[in-house]
Amino acid sequence: MIRTRFAPSPTGYLHIGGVRTALFSWAFARKHGGVFVLRIEDTDLERSTPESVKAILDGMHWVGLDYDEGPFYQTQRFDRYKEVIQQLLDAGHAYHCYASKEELDAMRAEQEARGEKPRYDRRWRPEEGKVLPAPPEGVSPVVRFRNPLDGVVAWDDAVKGRIEISNTELDDLIIARPDGSPTYNFCVVVDDWDMAISHVIRGDDHVNNTPRQINILKAIGAPLPVYAHLPMILNEDGQKMSKRRDAVSVVDYADKGILPEALLNYLARLGWGHGDDEFFTMEQFVEWFDLKDVSPSASRFNNEKFLWLNAQHIKAADNQRLAELVAPRLASANVDTANGPALTDVIALVKERVQDLNALALECDYFYARREPSAADVEKHLSAESRERMARFADRLAELADWNAESIHGLFKPFCLDEGIKMGQLGMPLRVLVCGTAQTPSVDAVLALIGRDEVLKRLRA
Ligand code: GLU
Repeated sequence: MIRTRFAPSPTGYLHIGGVRTALFSWAFARKHGGVFVLRIEDTDLERSTPESVKAILDGMHWVGLDYDEGPFYQTQRFDRYKEVIQQLLDAGHAYHCYASKEELDAMRAEQEARGEKPRYDRRWRPEEGKVLPAPPEGVSPVVRFRNPLDGVVAWDDAVKGRIEISNTELDDLIIARPDGSPTYNFCVVVDDWDMAISHVIRGDDHVNNTPRQINILKAIGAPLPVYAHLPMILNEDGQKMSKRRDAVSVVDYADKGILPEALLNYLARLGWGHGDDEFFTMEQFVEWFDLKDVSPSASRFNNEKFLWLNAQHIKAADNQRLAELVAPRLASANVDTANGPALTDVIALVKERVQDLNALALECDYFYARREPSAADVEKHLSAESRERMARFADRLAELADWNAESIHGLFKPFCLDEGIKMGQLGMPLRVLVCGTAQTPSVDAVLALIGRDEVLKRLRA
């Protein structure tokens, strides 16, 4: 049974790098009919906040990555971690260390003075024939994992290939603090074991933790999962994404008018590919996805491509759904859509012209109230002569038997002939006078939607 997990730490917002990790874990589970688990790694009590937990849950909901089990919270599993720590102590895989902070600082200073890499010197590690001092009184010890002294830890990373780390590189890791609380790497190990995770898919900032985690899993006697470390997402300049410079939180993307399926589609393409396919659905992605096709090197965010994809998803999206997304944006711009064409019809007409939902809302406004035209448009298209001409055109519109795009279109040619003008000399002033902008879709379709009374009112105002 394939079981994957997404294990965010709730110390901020839901980062898009995290969403990509979640997406790949989710897709891998879905593809293999497996189980996708959500685990909140909230052991860092100082940095974890309920707001951040909420941001993660809301973000997962917004992008539509559904999980089968969880959310589990590490803070609710402390008893279990303590149980396993005791098992390791009993089996001799862990030991108490009473070294004080001052002692350890002095130890490190000496090592550095000798030009050595500072590391715990295993002074409290029990060895055959070694006599340990009596535990100092009143000191609560930490628990350290008894890391193997020789040999290598190796794994075949499903993305990065074979990785080998010598055990001489690894310290005896602290797995419980003086107050008995378990440390981060240890909780991850127990969770991955208890939750029977078959594939650990996570960011490659965790590669250094993996050999430690593998050693602990081996000591416990737990089966090893497959590890797949995903490379980072860089910004357009090739830098690490930062909140200050880049849109990194899922909420930023929602605010920018990005559709969740477009974000997932784009994140899927970052570091993974299926031929030349750029635009695809999550069903297709699940069908195509394989860890072996994930690139081992970092990928760059390309905003232009991303917005192009968002535009494709807007085109493909259901108009009713788009109307629900655009309505609050129009409301906050004080556009009243109650008396006017159906928003779904307006969206059907203009949605090919935009790349995000904020722009989509902007394209809808003049169907409900005329925009104030720019001075440049007035100057260019609304001379006294063309205003008089528009009044004559209004009379023809008023007499039209049927009000629809075709019948309106039927007026254009004869009117231009009668006036001795080109189409543009009718279309542009008409747009600016009715809509307040020269940038609109086909003017006959626009007039048809706005409605005869409103069009005449605006033309004669
Ligand atoms: N909690 C870790 C993070 O947010 C992920 C740990 C893991 O996936 O093993 O970076």
